[in-house]
Amino acid sequence: MRVVIAGAGLAGLSCAKYLVDKGHIPIVLEARDVLGGKVAAWKDEDGDWYETGLHIFFGAYPNMLQLFKELDIEDRLQWKSHSMIFNQPSEPGTYSRFDFPDIPAPVNGVSAILSNNDMLSWNEKILFGLGLVPAMLRGQKYLDKCDTKSWSDWLKEHNIPERVNDEVFIAMSKALNFIGPDEISSTVLLTALNRFLQEKNGSKMAFLDGAPPERLCQPMVDYITARGGEVHMNSPLRQINLNEDSTVKSFTIASLDKNEKKELSADAYVSAMPVDLFKLMIPKQWKGLDAFSKLDGLNGVPVINIHLWFDKKLTDIDHLLFSRSPLLSVYADMSITCKEYEDPNRSMLELVFAPAKDWINRSDQDIVDATMEELKKLFPTHFMGDDKTKLRKFKIVKTPRSVYKAVPGCQDFRPSQKSPIKNFFLAGDYTMQKYLASMEGAVLSGKLCAESINKQYSKTIQNVS
Ligand SMILES: Cc1cc2nc3c(=O)[nH]c(=O)nc-3n(C[C@H](O)[C@H](O)[C@H](O)COP(=O)(O)OP(=O)(O)OC[C@H]3O[C@@H](n4cnc5c(N)ncnc54)[C@H](O)[C@@H]3O)c2cc1C
Repeated sequence: MRVVIAGAGLAGLSCAKYLVDKGHIPIVLEARDVLGGKVAAWKDEDGDWYETGLHIFFGAYPNMLQLFKELDIEDRLQWKSHSMIFNQPSEPGTYSRFDFPDIPAPVNGVSAILSNNDMLSWNEKILFGLGLVPAMLRGQKYLDKCDTKSWSDWLKEHNIPERVNDEVFIAMSKALNFIGPDEISSTVLLTALNRFLQEKNGSKMAFLDGAPPERLCQPMVDYITARGGEVHMNSPLRQINLNEDSTVKSFTIASLDKNEKKELSADAYVSAMPVDLFKLMIPKQWKGLDAFSKLDGLNGVPVINIHLWFDKKLTDIDHLLFSRSPLLSVYADMSITCKEYEDPNRSMLELVFAPAKDWINRSDQDIVDATMEELKKLFPTHFMGDDKTKLRKFKIVKTPRSVYKAVPGCQDFRPSQKSPIKNFFLAGDYTMQKYLASMEGAVLSGKLCAESINKQYSKTIQNVS
């Protein structure tokens, strides 16, 4: 079966990978000249990488880890110590850690929380622990039900002091969806906490050993093409053409290399584009269908990824750090955490700037200046005196519409991978799967999409015979 897929992000590539595994022929069309979508990265004039986002892989990503195994590239994941490390704004330059001992879940998580005495009082820990009991016992049903309220409202409902938000969850909420706890759906935080507490290595983090397009996406492309699939760059989908019964007749594709347009027909069609772009391409005959009209409720959230190259080392911490800064979310010294970016003498900080709605239209220089002010608080001794650390260069990547903004009520808008149109399917982190907007979600959505297509194909074969 020939399947045309628009989009070579993780969802589109995963869909193609699992289709070739079933003996189908996927043809992936990517609009840009770089693989990976939200994990895309580029080299600057000095050969240094800069990325769309600082990306962390978690132990609680079964489909992603399985994919690494199937591609035989597991050694590219650089696992860090099982800890979560937060900056302490009240004591600039210091850190507070949650260290997970090597014992079964949920005891390791409970132990990590109980043994941290910098951030939460005993009363706060007990109230918070009690609040989590329904999520632990009732699982997914409870998590889905909580999508009616924000995380801050969920905390209030469980009489958990506002301070818990200030200490831990502003940082976690910004890390998970680039927005604060007043905006984010409680389903998102509860889902993450549930996985982190229920799975022994759920919160264990890994960095990829290099840039995702080369170290993760290219092996997927090699796998797909070695088995008869195709991946074409610079080939944006321009229009979805329909038959009289509203099924897809063809995709109109622009070939940017050859400056021409062509029509491509197949047995099945997939959009693996981001939701904001797919919405612009929905044919008018489909607009009234619930699965498509609901997408108006999903909108990408702005985020900015910052790279700062310094002339000295700022830290020796080989891990992700939660900045707890009002402007910044998580950051890492990539010269330590990532093998390909390694520099023994100088730091390269990669930082996520969020919430970014008031900054996305500001100049790169404004954003760097504001970030440097925040860094003076995170590294108070490095930017003072005669021997100040100097910024050598910077790169800013703005994504005005990144992952869907996971506000309360969003879960209802997320479509299934199987659409109401017989030969048209959806993949993408925004489609319904339990890992929300993440790399794991994108990979799982692609896998589910491939399964849906394969099921439809098997039915057709059965009917024919
Ligand atoms: C700053 C940042 C940090 C992040 N950090 C993490 C993290 O630490 N951990 C984690 O798990 N997740 C993280 N994420 C989320 C993760 O990157 C995404 O959830 C995931 O990569 C989305 O994959 P996708 O395939 O669904 O969509 P996308 O990656 O958006 O892929 C869609 C593809 O479609 C292409 N396309 C668009 N229009 C067309 C067209 N007309 N024709 C053909 N192709 C088209 C795009 O160019 C793109 O390649 C982060 C995201 C950002 C932005």
